[in-house]
Amino acid sequence: MTEMETIYKKLGISREVWEFGEIIEKSLEPRFREFDRTAEYNQLKVLYAMQENKVSEACFNHTSGYGYNDIGRDTLEAVYASTFHTEAALVRPQITCGTHALAIALAASLRPGDELLSPAGKPYDTLEEVIGIRPSKGSLAEYGITYRQVELLENGYFDYPAIEKALNTHTKLVTIQRSKGYQTRPSYSVEQIGELISFIKERRPDVICMVDNCYGEFVERTEPSDVGADMIVGSLIKNPGGGLAPIGGYIAGKESLIENCAYRLTSPGLGKEVGATLGVMNAFFQGFFLAPTVTCSALKGAVFAANIYEKLGFPVVPDSRESRHDIIQAVELGTPERVIAFCKGIQAAAPVDSYVSPEPWAMPGYDSDVIMASGAFVQGSSIELSADGPIKPPYAVYFQGGLTWYHAKLGILKSVQALIDAGGLCLNKKEGEII
Ligand SMILES: *Cc1c(COP(=O)(O)O)cnc(C)c1O
Repeated sequence: MTEMETIYKKLGISREVWEFGEIIEKSLEPRFREFDRTAEYNQLKVLYAMQENKVSEACFNHTSGYGYNDIGRDTLEAVYASTFHTEAALVRPQITCGTHALAIALAASLRPGDELLSPAGKPYDTLEEVIGIRPSKGSLAEYGITYRQVELLENGYFDYPAIEKALNTHTKLVTIQRSKGYQTRPSYSVEQIGELISFIKERRPDVICMVDNCYGEFVERTEPSDVGADMIVGSLIKNPGGGLAPIGGYIAGKESLIENCAYRLTSPGLGKEVGATLGVMNAFFQGFFLAPTVTCSALKGAVFAANIYEKLGFPVVPDSRESRHDIIQAVELGTPERVIAFCKGIQAAAPVDSYVSPEPWAMPGYDSDVIMASGAFVQGSSIELSADGPIKPPYAVYFQGGLTWYHAKLGILKSVQALIDAGGLCLNKKEGEII
């Protein structure tokens, strides 16, 4: 046995699963090379922004209290703005998560009587309460902000004539979600988002175009802010935090819009001037520095999984060859037992809590039991290898992340091994297929 086989065996991977993985990995060399080139480009983009904005050791100092003159905070915001080619950015530990960042951007831009338009169907679940699609305390609806949604065409793309009709004199802001999240539609490329924004701006140049950029950062060489988005919004416990940010969100865009966001986040009159960073700046800077290569690792994991599971006969979305616009991979496993085994495999591969066994439970807000695997350094971090599956047909698991490719690889091999050990799958070594 080679050293490599031995160490995989110690981690519970049988020889046949390991060999199957090696064959798949070999076949993916050209794709991986492409991801590496994108990571190289994005790494240089971030480095250039850090140099241009003179990041210094003083940026990592702790601040407390009001946090006046926090040079780390102000420099980090300049680095985000430079990287995403926007006039300004708001990047703070006081933004608690992605939903909060989106809620700030919406509430800061909309006033009573204004209308919010989603031209790409239903937004992410948590936004339903922010908007008031599901009645909720403090929603935009309570403030007299109306909402309109244009359904997608059957193929998952934009219904341009219907979007044209939906734009009206009250339309103030258009929200576009880049990643499909946990829906079945495709995730959109930056180019497709750019076309949609151009279509809207040609008709209504005054409408604000906001993109929910969650899970999309650094997957491509450009971001939606390069193709006309007025604001892009995301979470730091996903791609741009690079696995190191322990909390946070960002909004990058036009100066006037970001100013409004800052007044909404803190208070009218105070805006960006307050907000101590309590020692997290080092992690924010370093995480952003690592984010292009971390995202690349997660992408390799997603494509590896798509190829493994497609070869084993399961439907995968996106499929094994499709181009990628976010880091999420869905696998339809067909039975509850397989969903549970898959998640147990991912959990068993984790650096943290590898010895615990996830079980399905009735999570608030879901209409079926859900099982989640996450052995993360940061609670709930989904740039770290994680998976979840609702226990209902078609019994699909969604998984994402992986701070390193090697960890993502082990996680996927562990999931295959767990399926085999639970009797849900049988590898025919010679053909590399299920029997
Ligand atoms: C994760 C996510 C959000 C919300 O982010 P949280 O940090 O979980 O609040 C919003 N939109 C999309 C597309 C997401 O993937």
